[in-house]
Amino acid sequence: MRIGSGIDVHAFGPGDAVMLGGVRVPHTHGLVAHSDGDVLLHALCDALLGAAGLGDIGQHFQDSDPQWRGADSASFLTAVLGMVRAAGFAVLNADLTVIGQVPKVAPHRAAIRARIAQLLALDPACVNIKATTTEALGFLGRAEGLAAQAVVLLDEA
Ligand code: MG
Repeated sequence: MRIGSGIDVHAFGPGDAVMLGGVRVPHTHGLVAHSDGDVLLHALCDALLGAAGLGDIGQHFQDSDPQWRGADSASFLTAVLGMVRAAGFAVLNADLTVIGQVPKVAPHRAAIRARIAQLLALDPACVNIKATTTEALGFLGRAEGLAAQAVVLLDEA
């Protein structure tokens, strides 16, 4: 078995929604990013790549590459899953944490869990979505952006 972890952060900017785990979450701001800025899917991609020993998301989807401008991060996850499988691994579970003051994740938790389970071809019971604030401390507490952390476990397929 192989474990992997990933983290990601994006700053809030103009917009009226954020993409979080492949789900559109209405908010007073969007996220500044070359792609759609989905911190949860980016952290998950890094965890998967890390567990498989395949580097990080920036190596595979460079943020200077015009083809990824505004990209749906679900397409990154699908591509990463293909790489992980090609390397001989299957995903066992994913444990994901959204870190930020806003927006509230709870109303969207079930939808995010279902979407990520679908993208990973896993039972939703194998995908866990947690959310925490930073008790108003730091840049996340000041609602300057959003962060996510992911941990995954792979097994030899
Ligand atoms: Mg990112």
